[in-house]
Amino acid sequence: MTGDVALVRCPEARIYDHGPGHPLRADRVLLTWDLIEATGLDGRPGVTRVGCEPATDEVLGLVHTPDFIEATKAAGGGEEGNWSRFGYGPGDNPIFDRMHQAGALVAGASVAAAAAVRRGDALHAFNAAGGLHHAMPARASGFCVYDDPAIAIAWLLREGVERVAYVDVDVHHGDGVQAIFWDEPRVLTISIHQYVPGWFFPGTGDASERGGPGAEGSAINVPLPPDTGDDAWLEAFRAVVPPAVERFGPDVLVTQLGCDTHASDPLASLRLTTRTYRACARELHHLAHRAAAGRWVATGGGGYQWARVVPRAWTIAFAAMTDALDELPDELPEGFIEEAERRSGGAVPTTFSEAGLGPGPGDDRARAVADEVARMVLAS
Ligand SMILES: [Zn+2]
Ligand SMILES: [Zn+2]
Repeated sequence: MTGDVALVRCPEARIYDHGPGHPLRADRVLLTWDLIEATGLDGRPGVTRVGCEPATDEVLGLVHTPDFIEATKAAGGGEEGNWSRFGYGPGDNPIFDRMHQAGALVAGASVAAAAAVRRGDALHAFNAAGGLHHAMPARASGFCVYDDPAIAIAWLLREGVERVAYVDVDVHHGDGVQAIFWDEPRVLTISIHQYVPGWFFPGTGDASERGGPGAEGSAINVPLPPDTGDDAWLEAFRAVVPPAVERFGPDVLVTQLGCDTHASDPLASLRLTTRTYRACARELHHLAHRAAAGRWVATGGGGYQWARVVPRAWTIAFAAMTDALDELPDELPEGFIEEAERRSGGAVPTTFSEAGLGPGPGDDRARAVADEVARMVLAS
């Protein structure tokens, strides 16, 4: 199952920075590139590096309204205005310098990944900087300015791709992507996430959300309770995601690989470890080959243990894409550990593997939810 793999590296995208103290740090992506490089994965035969250009207003406009794009430019350029109606302000989406340029670069990087796969230059492509799945057509949300996975999908459709499956394993519901393609039968969105109505962000993603008129069944949600552990999460994933994607028969698989599902993540309360990331990456890789002739566009996503978890999670994903998961040494390279510890000012794990945490208190409920969703989705 080999094929060329594109690694999108867009260093300029580090300007996507909400400022000190905000959890979405650019270091998450920079350390991921460092670890991919330190493990030699980007030097494997068939791996190419791809740069990026900012997405044009026209491409952003495939998903976002002109008013929102103009507001983003003006707010990030320091102009005064009523930006809160576009989702900007103190809290999750503070206004930052060159906000439009930053969002357009991240979107451009996901479009570059999609283009590499669309042209056939690569079978799989990875943009670790992407995965900003909460942005809505006319509003920023949940740290997300422009919805790069949705933009990449809309771009693929415009280029003549007929069917796209989107799989989102971030701990938060992929609400922006779901909303954008709610009425679009050519796009299947699947999100598996922590769900606590009325409390846990963004509050949507109930199993009853199935797609709009004319597109019933094109949205699938697997809402898991807090404290779901490795085994129950994987069982839920396996019960729903591969059969639903195979049945849909996409031309391209797009995935959002948020790793804020980790037990140590400060913003959520699932109980996953890197054991699940390894198994999930392997499943997604096989699924891309089985269901989409290998065509796989992967993005990063959430994940707020930026030195301890994110670089390992996404290097594991990239190892699966390059068919190197079984050869990846368990020990992290020393140079990487030193750099990650220097930047974070604390100890980081020295291996990719982690001792599992065993069953979680949410497991029984998670299994029941997954059964119910699988029955509903596969029966219809
Ligand atoms: Zn492959
Ligand atoms: Zn998230």
